Amino acid sequence: MSGDGGRVVMVTGGSRGIGAACAGWFLARGDRVAVTSRAGGGVAPEGTDPERFVDLACDVTDAHAVEQAFTAIEDRWGPVEILVANAGITRDTLVLRMDDEAWHAVLDTNLTGAFRVAKRAMAKMIRLRRGRIVFVSSVGAFVGSPGQANYAAAKAGLVGMARSMAREVASRGITVNVVAPGLVDTDMLAALDGDRRTLMEAQVPLGRTGTPAEIAEAVGFLASEGASYVTGAVLPVDGGLAMGM
Ligand code: NDP
Repeated sequence: MSGDGGRVVMVTGGSRGIGAACAGWFLARGDRVAVTSRAGGGVAPEGTDPERFVDLACDVTDAHAVEQAFTAIEDRWGPVEILVANAGITRDTLVLRMDDEAWHAVLDTNLTGAFRVAKRAMAKMIRLRRGRIVFVSSVGAFVGSPGQANYAAAKAGLVGMARSMAREVASRGITVNVVAPGLVDTDMLAALDGDRRTLMEAQVPLGRTGTPAEIAEAVGFLASEGASYVTGAVLPVDGGLAMGM
C-alpha cells in the first residue's frame, strides 16, 4: 500500500457499469482511482475528493493512448498498483454472419486490450515487487452462448492469459486473477435481445440478475490484502449460472 494517499488503481472501461462500480468501491476505501474509456466522461461518486479521481479518454485498442494514460497516472500519483482490466464490448451475431471485423473488434478490445494494459502495468509492478491485476471475464467464457463466438473466445482467452501471467509474476509479489460475472444490470445487458435475456435469467439459480456493485465486491476482494494467497483464480459472480463449469 502506498503512503497516505491510498493505493493507485486503474480501471479500464470505468465510465459506467461494472467499471464505474469498481471505481466507486476503491474510492470508498480511500484509494486513488483513474478510470478510462474511449469517450471519457467517467465521474466519481458525489463527495469524492477530486485529488483521488481522474477520468482519462483511452481506447485500449490504441497502444499510444494506453502509454499516454499510464504516463499521466504515473506523473500524478506514481505507478499503478491495482489494475482492473474491465473494458469490453459485444458484437453478437451467429458465426455464419460474423465478419472478420466483428471478430477482430471484440478480440482486440476484450483480449488484446487487456493484454496491453496488463503488460504495461506489470512492468512497473515488477519493480515495486507488488501489484494486483484483475481481469473481468464473463460467464460467456464457460457457457458459450450462441451468437457470442467472438466474445466467448475473448473471455475464455483471458482465463488462460491470466494463469500464464500469474505464474510469470508470482515471485514478484504480484497476483493475477479473473472475475467472471454472470448477467449484470448494465448498458451491455440492456442491449441483449429481450427473449434471450429472459431465457438466460430463468437459468440463474439465484433467480435474478446481478448488480455492478456485487461484481465490484469480488474485484475489490481480489485486490485486497485478504486475497494475498489467491492467484490464477477464476471467481464466478453469477448467481450460480455457470456452477460446475
Ligand atoms: P458497459 O457497456 O456498461 O461498459 C463498458 C465500459 O467499457 C464503458 O466504460 C466503455 O466506455 C468501455 N469501453 C468499451 N470499449 C473500450 C475500449 N476500446 N477502450 C476503453 N474502454 C472501452 O459494460 P459492462 O459494465 O456491463 O461490462 C464491463 C465488463 O464486464 C466487460 O468486459 C463485459 O464484457 C463484462 N461483463 C459484463 C456482463 C454484463 O452482464 N453486463 C456479464 C459478464 C461480463 P466507452 O464506450 O466510452 O469506451
